Amino acid sequence: MVRSGQLVSNIRHKLVRSSVERASPRKLECTHWQKRFSIAIRQYVQFQRETRLERFVWIPTLFAIGLAIVYFISQAREQKREAREQAEYWQKIRAMDYVWYVGEHPACKTGNSVLCFACGSNNLRVERLMQQTYLRKHYCGRCGTSLYYSTEV
Ligand SMILES: [Zn+2]
Repeated sequence: MVRSGQLVSNIRHKLVRSSVERASPRKLECTHWQKRFSIAIRQYVQFQRETRLERFVWIPTLFAIGLAIVYFISQAREQKREAREQAEYWQKIRAMDYVWYVGEHPACKTGNSVLCFACGSNNLRVERLMQQTYLRKHYCGRCGTSLYYSTEV
Protein backbone atom coordinates (compact mmCIF):
# COMPACT_ATOMS: atom_id res chain seq x y z
CA MET A 1 0.00 0.00 0.00
CA VAL A 2 2.76 2.38 0.93
CA ARG A 3 4.70 1.48 -2.17
CA SER A 4 1.81 1.87 -4.56
CA GLY A 5 0.89 5.15 -2.89
CA GLN A 6 4.42 6.38 -3.40
CA LEU A 7 4.36 5.26 -7.00
CA VAL A 8 1.15 7.18 -7.65
CA SER A 9 2.45 10.35 -6.07
CA ASN A 10 5.76 10.03 -7.92
CA ILE A 11 4.05 9.68 -11.26
CA ARG A 12 1.67 12.44 -10.38
CA HIS A 13 4.49 14.83 -9.64
CA LYS A 14 6.42 13.78 -12.68
CA LEU A 15 3.61 14.02 -15.20
CA VAL A 16 1.08 16.52 -13.86
CA ARG A 17 2.03 19.86 -12.54
CA SER A 18 -1.09 21.91 -12.65
CA SER A 19 -2.28 24.07 -9.80
CA VAL A 20 -5.80 22.62 -10.14
CA GLU A 21 -4.35 19.21 -9.48
CA ARG A 22 -2.62 20.30 -6.31
CA ALA A 23 -5.60 22.28 -5.08
CA SER A 24 -7.97 19.30 -5.11
CA PRO A 25 -7.36 16.78 -2.32
CA ARG A 26 -9.79 14.23 -3.75
CA LYS A 27 -7.54 13.76 -6.75
CA LEU A 28 -4.94 12.19 -4.51
CA GLU A 29 -7.12 9.08 -4.28
CA CYS A 30 -7.01 8.54 -8.04
CA THR A 31 -5.38 5.31 -9.16
CA HIS A 32 -2.46 5.08 -11.48
CA TRP A 33 -4.65 4.29 -14.51
CA GLN A 34 -7.18 7.00 -13.81
CA LYS A 35 -4.28 9.39 -13.66
CA ARG A 36 -2.82 8.19 -16.92
CA PHE A 37 -6.21 8.32 -18.61
CA SER A 38 -6.89 11.88 -17.51
CA ILE A 39 -3.43 12.87 -18.70
CA ALA A 40 -4.03 11.25 -22.05
CA ILE A 41 -7.34 13.10 -22.41
CA ARG A 42 -5.70 16.36 -21.51
CA GLN A 43 -2.89 15.78 -23.97
CA TYR A 44 -5.41 14.89 -26.67
CA VAL A 45 -7.41 18.06 -26.05
CA GLN A 46 -4.19 20.08 -26.08
CA PHE A 47 -3.13 18.42 -29.33
CA GLN A 48 -6.50 19.19 -30.91
CA ARG A 49 -6.28 22.77 -29.76
CA GLU A 50 -2.84 23.18 -31.24
CA THR A 51 -3.46 21.47 -34.56
CA ARG A 52 -7.11 22.62 -34.91
CA LEU A 53 -8.22 19.23 -36.18
CA GLU A 54 -11.85 20.31 -36.18
CA ARG A 55 -11.08 22.04 -39.46
CA PHE A 56 -10.92 18.57 -41.02
CA VAL A 57 -14.02 17.16 -39.36
CA TRP A 58 -15.85 17.26 -42.70
CA ILE A 59 -13.57 14.48 -44.04
CA PRO A 60 -14.84 11.69 -41.76
CA THR A 61 -18.33 13.19 -41.89
CA LEU A 62 -18.45 13.07 -45.68
CA PHE A 63 -16.97 9.58 -45.59
CA ALA A 64 -19.67 8.37 -43.19
CA ILE A 65 -22.44 9.98 -45.27
CA GLY A 66 -21.01 8.39 -48.43
CA LEU A 67 -20.88 4.99 -46.78
CA ALA A 68 -24.50 5.34 -45.64
CA ILE A 69 -25.65 6.32 -49.15
CA VAL A 70 -23.81 3.38 -50.73
CA TYR A 71 -25.30 1.05 -48.13
CA PHE A 72 -28.88 2.22 -48.70
CA ILE A 73 -28.56 2.10 -52.50
CA SER A 74 -27.20 -1.46 -52.44
CA GLN A 75 -29.93 -2.45 -49.99
CA ALA A 76 -32.65 -1.03 -52.25
CA ARG A 77 -31.17 -2.77 -55.28
CA GLU A 78 -31.06 -6.06 -53.43
CA GLN A 79 -34.73 -5.75 -52.45
CA LYS A 80 -35.75 -4.87 -55.99
CA ARG A 81 -33.83 -7.84 -57.37
CA GLU A 82 -35.42 -10.20 -54.85
CA ALA A 83 -38.92 -8.94 -55.66
CA ARG A 84 -38.28 -9.40 -59.39
CA GLU A 85 -36.98 -12.93 -58.86
CA GLN A 86 -40.05 -13.77 -56.76
CA ALA A 87 -42.39 -12.41 -59.45
CA GLU A 88 -40.58 -14.37 -62.16
CA TYR A 89 -40.75 -17.53 -60.07
CA TRP A 90 -44.52 -17.30 -59.53
CA GLN A 91 -45.07 -16.44 -63.18
CA LYS A 92 -43.23 -19.60 -64.10
CA ILE A 93 -45.27 -21.65 -61.62
CA ARG A 94 -48.54 -20.17 -62.95
CA ALA A 95 -47.55 -21.15 -66.50
CA MET A 96 -47.21 -24.80 -65.44
CA ASP A 97 -50.95 -25.55 -65.62
CA TYR A 98 -52.95 -28.59 -66.70
CA VAL A 99 -52.77 -27.73 -70.40
CA TRP A 100 -49.02 -27.27 -70.12
CA TYR A 101 -48.69 -30.66 -68.37
CA VAL A 102 -50.66 -32.53 -71.01
CA GLY A 103 -48.63 -30.83 -73.73
CA GLU A 104 -45.40 -31.69 -71.95
CA HIS A 105 -46.34 -35.31 -71.19
CA PRO A 106 -48.95 -36.36 -73.77
CA ALA A 107 -48.45 -40.05 -72.93
CA CYS A 108 -49.67 -39.39 -69.37
CA LYS A 109 -53.18 -38.41 -70.46
CA THR A 110 -55.77 -41.10 -69.75
CA GLY A 111 -59.37 -40.23 -70.39
CA ASN A 112 -60.11 -37.05 -68.48
CA SER A 113 -57.30 -37.53 -65.97
CA VAL A 114 -53.50 -37.65 -66.09
CA LEU A 115 -50.81 -39.91 -64.68
CA CYS A 116 -47.62 -39.04 -62.89
CA PHE A 117 -44.87 -38.70 -65.47
CA ALA A 118 -42.26 -39.95 -62.99
CA CYS A 119 -43.86 -43.18 -61.73
CA GLY A 120 -47.05 -43.61 -63.79
CA SER A 121 -49.37 -43.53 -60.78
CA ASN A 122 -52.88 -42.11 -61.15
CA ASN A 123 -53.01 -41.24 -57.44
CA LEU A 124 -53.04 -37.44 -57.78
CA ARG A 125 -53.32 -35.14 -54.79
CA VAL A 126 -53.96 -31.42 -54.44
CA GLU A 127 -52.34 -29.00 -52.04
CA ARG A 128 -52.95 -25.29 -51.56
CA LEU A 129 -49.79 -23.24 -51.88
CA MET A 130 -50.84 -20.34 -49.65
CA GLN A 131 -48.56 -17.27 -49.53
CA GLN A 132 -51.50 -15.41 -51.12
CA THR A 133 -50.75 -16.98 -54.48
CA TYR A 134 -54.22 -18.60 -54.75
CA LEU A 135 -52.55 -21.53 -56.43
CA ARG A 136 -53.02 -25.24 -55.94
CA LYS A 137 -50.30 -27.78 -56.55
CA HIS A 138 -51.26 -31.11 -58.11
CA TYR A 139 -48.74 -33.72 -57.11
CA CYS A 140 -48.28 -37.47 -57.22
CA GLY A 141 -49.53 -39.27 -54.10
CA ARG A 142 -47.08 -42.10 -54.60
CA CYS A 143 -43.74 -40.47 -55.39
CA GLY A 144 -44.48 -36.86 -54.42
CA THR A 145 -43.45 -35.30 -57.75
CA SER A 146 -45.06 -31.94 -58.48
CA LEU A 147 -47.04 -32.26 -61.72
CA TYR A 148 -48.95 -29.07 -62.45
CA TYR A 149 -50.60 -26.05 -60.83
CA SER A 150 -54.05 -24.58 -60.99
CA THR A 151 -55.69 -21.48 -59.56
CA GLU A 152 -57.95 -21.80 -56.51
CA VAL A 153 -61.69 -21.80 -57.27
ZN1 LIG B 1 -45.35 -40.40 -59.12
